[in-house]
Amino acid sequence: MKPDFDVIIVGGGPVGLLLACLLKKQGQRTRVLEKRTQPKSHSAAIGITPPSLKILNKLGLTDSFVAHGLKVRDCFVHGQSGPLGCMTFRNIPDQHPYVLALPQVMTAALLQKHLGAEEIEAGSEVSEVKQLADHCLVRTGNRQWTARYVVACDGWRSPVREHIGMKAPAHTYDSHFIMGDFMDRTSFGDEAHLFFTATGAVESFPLPGGQRRWVVQTDKTLSDLPAGRISELIQQRTGIQVPVADQINESAFTPHRFNCERYYDGRIILCGDAAHGMSPIGGQGMNTGFADAEFLAEVLAHPDPSTLLPAYNHYRQQAAKAAILRAEWGMWFGTWRGKPRSFVRDTLLRFLLSHDSITTRLGSFYAMLTIPFNTLDRVPLSLGFNRVHGLK
Ligand SMILES: Cc1cc2nc3c(=O)[nH]c(=O)nc-3n(C[C@H](O)[C@H](O)[C@H](O)COP(=O)(O)OP(=O)(O)OC[C@H]3O[C@@H](n4cnc5c(N)ncnc54)[C@H](O)[C@@H]3O)c2cc1C
Repeated sequence: MKPDFDVIIVGGGPVGLLLACLLKKQGQRTRVLEKRTQPKSHSAAIGITPPSLKILNKLGLTDSFVAHGLKVRDCFVHGQSGPLGCMTFRNIPDQHPYVLALPQVMTAALLQKHLGAEEIEAGSEVSEVKQLADHCLVRTGNRQWTARYVVACDGWRSPVREHIGMKAPAHTYDSHFIMGDFMDRTSFGDEAHLFFTATGAVESFPLPGGQRRWVVQTDKTLSDLPAGRISELIQQRTGIQVPVADQINESAFTPHRFNCERYYDGRIILCGDAAHGMSPIGGQGMNTGFADAEFLAEVLAHPDPSTLLPAYNHYRQQAAKAAILRAEWGMWFGTWRGKPRSFVRDTLLRFLLSHDSITTRLGSFYAMLTIPFNTLDRVPLSLGFNRVHGLK
């Protein structure tokens, strides 16, 4: 039988939408099934790295993303003993020497607009996925869909991953954060500022529309956030007044990590947060998912994708492993508390940030230019992917 679609994507978050756009460009019959009827109101990701801008360029979308976002070129670092230096993206070897600040809701909206409303079935919660010999069956409510392949882009809880029983052993960190977006009354402009203090970290990132995000380390998960708590902690640790009246939203999170045992099972493939989870500190989760989507779109373009799925699994698992470790390391170092450890951190950072060659390397590191296999042209010939697929 000829299935209704080439690919069904479960989940219309940023990764599912990007994958759908890339597949549509190839002329594949694709449908996104999304349980929500309204977009998420709260934004998680705010940083789009240069490799992701390169992927968006394949769709001709980079200019419109840049027009809606804010280019962050410098990140100033402060310690217990005062300013420690600046990590800059200005000298990184890329045509986009910055990280683009754009709220995830806007990223999703731009991708959705590019894809077109007719490709997305909103209000369609997938309750069952079944594999047959040459296609898959997907159930939403009392409707059934058929496709050659199903891609789960359904987020870190991934009901599809649960459904197929793919193992994703997770570890929850003992680090906790609260965050809020505020109208920006500081004089920081388009600069990011990190404050690593003896009583906890405070991170501050510019957003378009005259707003600024503040992320504050806490002792424990604060599910019931007392009003004004974010402003109070910022004032205590940095001396900066961030009026409660300027607060737009708030949330609390406790990071976790996992890297799925395998990124596919037959015709069902995992992509984005469904496949891996990492600490948001460092801003890599969505960007890693974008690189998954780019790779997977190439795999699905092949006449027999099953021959390339092992390569997808291998390379994307390696890339996610590197991103998970970097996010973990950055969070660990930034959340040290107490005066002796702050002194060690200040000394080390002051040394590192006083050398141009090191700040440029740090810039490349945080812009995700040095993640292994972060773009398709970095995939080596040795494992056969390029040769099979005719990629340069
Ligand atoms: C505080 C915070 C800050 C972050 N900052 C950054 C950052 O700066 N940069 C970065 O790269 N990453 C960042 N991240 C991570 C980023 O938000 C995620 O990696 C990203 O959302 C993953 O996108 P996704 O499309 O894979 O999954 P999601 O965004 O979770 O989307 C999954 C979609 O699937 C839908 N869905 C779920 N189940 C079903 C079902 N059964 N049927 C149909 N639909 C379903 C959901 O409704 C949802 O729309 C941050 C995360 C947090 C929490």
